[in-house]
Amino acid sequence: MGSSGEPIYYYENGSKSAVSWAYELLLKSWYGIEPGAAESRFMRLSKDYLPNSIMACFRRLLWRHWILPGLSLSAREYDQCLSAILKFKPQVLWGFVSAMTGLAEFIRDNGRSLRSYRPELIVGWAEPTYDHQKQLLAEIFQCRSTSLYSCHEVGHIAAQCPVGHFHVNQEHLLVETEPALLSSPTSQLGEVLVTSLYETPMPFIRYRLGDVAQLGTSACPCGRNLQTLSHLAGRSSEIFVTKTGRMVAPNFWCHLLRRGDLAEYIKQFQVVYRKDGGYRLNLVPKNGVSQAAESQLRILITQSLEEESAIEFVYVAEIPRLRSGKAQLVLHET
Ligand SMILES: [Zn+2]
Repeated sequence: MGSSGEPIYYYENGSKSAVSWAYELLLKSWYGIEPGAAESRFMRLSKDYLPNSIMACFRRLLWRHWILPGLSLSAREYDQCLSAILKFKPQVLWGFVSAMTGLAEFIRDNGRSLRSYRPELIVGWAEPTYDHQKQLLAEIFQCRSTSLYSCHEVGHIAAQCPVGHFHVNQEHLLVETEPALLSSPTSQLGEVLVTSLYETPMPFIRYRLGDVAQLGTSACPCGRNLQTLSHLAGRSSEIFVTKTGRMVAPNFWCHLLRRGDLAEYIKQFQVVYRKDGGYRLNLVPKNGVSQAAESQLRILITQSLEEESAIEFVYVAEIPRLRSGKAQLVLHET
């Protein structure tokens, strides 16, 4: 699926997978993980399909990969995933951020234990890992985590080094940004354009991903010379520019709503940018609805955005995920 939401058809002969796998090995080496390390992967597979999957069988036998379902998991399925992980004891946990944070919440909320097991690395992909999710993963699994930025068409684009900067897969891709696309005068962010440099039946040239980022201009303290993305703000459709020209990325809401004092009242959230310039916050309350928390949030939003806008609070039982299984933190009213 392309950035426009329309299906994209392209030819592939395995070259993209090959360079992506090479980059995965490189990423793991940054964290001291050797090739052949046991790994559990939460993938876009149905739990009903998995037992009969030849792919899962080959991955287990040849690569020491234990494949787990990664979409719309129930408490029972998290329980099964946890049992499989404790039995297999993978050095690396890899997959959908929502699946891994969901497992972490399941462990925390149900008083479950990892016993003596600790992974060495968590790799989140397919969706951004927000700060509060990183904190939760570190708290439960007590290991380092990294984030992999990739897309179906060109493969792995960049990944976080131990210092926290995204390094571009520069040996296989040329990454540029097109700053003029964003109307915010205060930002150097631009829409990401990717060109594939490896031999492939269908190269992508300055392919527009629909993501917004900023190219780094200084060297990373980790010592790696691969180009950096100093700021990966998310999908361009998730960026909102206020009346005063302030650019608001999804992480702004994560910082605000996951503050310690507010987080105890909010289990899940989604922000809707209304057509009239106001904001609607769909909130799944935790420990009941708090008028005090709502008032505090209203003040914080107004202060942070430095503008008076209509703010509407809607309390809901759950926030549905996209068909892909990804969480949608922000959306624009149509
Ligand atoms: Zn670095």
